[in-house]
Amino acid sequence: NHLFDLVRASLPADPAAKVFLETGEGARYSYADLIVRSGAYAACLTAAGVKPGDRVAVQAEKSPEFLFLYLGSVRAGAVFLPLNTAYTPTEIAYFLGDAEPAVFVCDPARREALAPVARDAGMPVLHTLDAKGHGTLAEAADAETEAFSDVARGPDDLAAILYTSGTTGRSKGAMLSHENLASNARTLAEAWRFTAEDVLLHALPVFHTHGLFVATNTVLAAGASMLFLGRFDPTGVLALLPRATAMMGVPTFYTRLLKEAGLTPEVTAGIRLFVSGSAPLLAETHRDWEARTGHAILERYGMTETNMNTSNPYAGARVAGTVGPALPGVAVRVVDPETGAALPTDAVGMIEVKGPNVFQGYWRMPEKTAAEFKADGFFVTGDLGKIDPDGYVHIVGRGKDLIITGGYNVYPKEIENEIDALPGVVESAVIGLPHADFGEGVTAVVVGRADVPDEATILRTLEGRLARYKCPKRVLFVDELPRNTMGKVQKNLLRESHAGLYR
Ligand code: ATP
Ligand code: MG
Repeated sequence: NHLFDLVRASLPADPAAKVFLETGEGARYSYADLIVRSGAYAACLTAAGVKPGDRVAVQAEKSPEFLFLYLGSVRAGAVFLPLNTAYTPTEIAYFLGDAEPAVFVCDPARREALAPVARDAGMPVLHTLDAKGHGTLAEAADAETEAFSDVARGPDDLAAILYTSGTTGRSKGAMLSHENLASNARTLAEAWRFTAEDVLLHALPVFHTHGLFVATNTVLAAGASMLFLGRFDPTGVLALLPRATAMMGVPTFYTRLLKEAGLTPEVTAGIRLFVSGSAPLLAETHRDWEARTGHAILERYGMTETNMNTSNPYAGARVAGTVGPALPGVAVRVVDPETGAALPTDAVGMIEVKGPNVFQGYWRMPEKTAAEFKADGFFVTGDLGKIDPDGYVHIVGRGKDLIITGGYNVYPKEIENEIDALPGVVESAVIGLPHADFGEGVTAVVVGRADVPDEATILRTLEGRLARYKCPKRVLFVDELPRNTMGKVQKNLLRESHAGLYR
C-alpha cells in the first residue's frame, strides 16, 4: 500500500508511449518521464540527507517538476509538505518552525528573502525550483541517473503533511498516510469512472488537497493523462476543454466560465465529467451550467484532513445543493453537537466521518487531535449538515459560522438562500456580529447588481419569510465577498471588519 504503487499498478505496457501530462505550452511528459524524474528527485533528496519520515517542505510555483518532486519525496519515504505560494516569509517562518523539515525548496526569486528564515528555523538544506522547472534542486536531480528503488513504507506511515486552508483560524498540519491517500484515490477513480483514456483538465493549485490529491492521484490511479495549466484563466480553459474528458474545479471556476460567451455545448461536447468542490456550489450555478452546456456538475465534499467523504453519483441523480451520499468505505453520520447523540434523517447537526481516508491527526497538536476524534474513531469535521431520506448529505455551513442570537441557533445558509433568491442579488454571506442584547446580531453582507433592492426593502421582504429571530438586523452592501485562493468565503474577515456594527 505504498502510495507510489498507485502509479506502478496502472502503468501501461509501454510507459514511454503514454502521456502523463501536457502543459499549456504544449510540453509533454510520458509515464516513463514520470518514473525517471521522480526517481531522480528521490535520489537527490536522499543524497541531501533526507531520511524516511523526514519532511520535505516546498513553496514553489505549479509545474510538472513540482509533481515529480512530490512523487520523488513519496518514493524516498519522506513526508511531502507543500506550502501555499501566497504565504509571506513571516508565515513561512511559522510553518518551517512547526514542521522542522530536512529540506526546504523555494522559488529562486524568493531565495534571498527566505534564506534568513530558513537559517533561523535551523534548516540544513535550502533548494530552489521555479515555474519552468529550473533551480538548484532540478539541477541536483539532473545529476542522478541511476534508477531509484522505492523506500518501503507501511500503510500508516506518513506520505504528506498538508496544512488546512486557514479559513477558520491558523492552519493546522494534517498528517496523511500512504493508505489515506492511496485508498481515496482508488475510491475516486472508481466512483468517477476514470480510465487510461481520460484526459483531465487541471487548472487547480497543487499545494491544496483538491489539485494535488483529488485531481493528480485520481489520474495516477487510472493511468490517465492531464492537461496542466499553470493557473486558472477562463480563456485558457475554454481553449483546452475540447481536448479534455473531465475537469475538476472550485465553484469560482464555474461562475467565471459562465460569464464567457465561448462556453457552449460544442466546447464541452467531449467532456464526460465536471466535478466541483472545496466550497459550496450555488444551486443556481448548477442549474445555469446544465442549461448552458447540458452537463450536471458533480459536487463532492471533503477536507484536507479526510480527503473526500461524499460524492454525488456518477450514474444517478446529481442533486444541486447537496454533496451526495458517503463514498464507498466511508461512514458519515450527523450528531447533536452538545450530546453527541446520533440524529435522525433530515435533522441538522455536526457531520462526523470515519474511514481509511481519515487522517492520522494534527501534526504536533495531540490535544487538538484528541478533541476532534470520538472514542469510536469518528472524526468531527466541524461542518454542520443533515442527511436526507435518500442518504444525500446537505451541508448548511461550518460550526464556527453558526449564529447564536438571543439563545436561538441560526444557520446562515438558510438566510443566504432566501436573500440569494431576491432579484438583483448576486450572492450573500450571513454572519453573526457581537451585539449587547442578543449576544450576536444576524447580519447580511450582500453583493448586488444595479437593481438590488435597498436595505429596508430586503429586511421587509425577509420578515414575511423567516422567523423573526432569523431576520438580519442589518444588510450591508459590498462589491465582492472576500475569498481565498480556493474560492472560500472568508467570513472571519467579514466578522473582523464589521465587528463594531452594533456597538
Ligand atoms: P481551516 O480548517 O484551516 O479553517 P478549511 O476548512 O477551509 O480551513 P480545507 O480543508 O481546505 O480547509 O477545506 C475543507 C472545508 O471546505 C470543509 O470542512 C467544508 O467546510 C468546505 N467544503 C469542501 N467541499 C465543500 C462542498 N462541496 N460544499 C460545502 N463546503 C465544502
Ligand atoms: Mg477545516
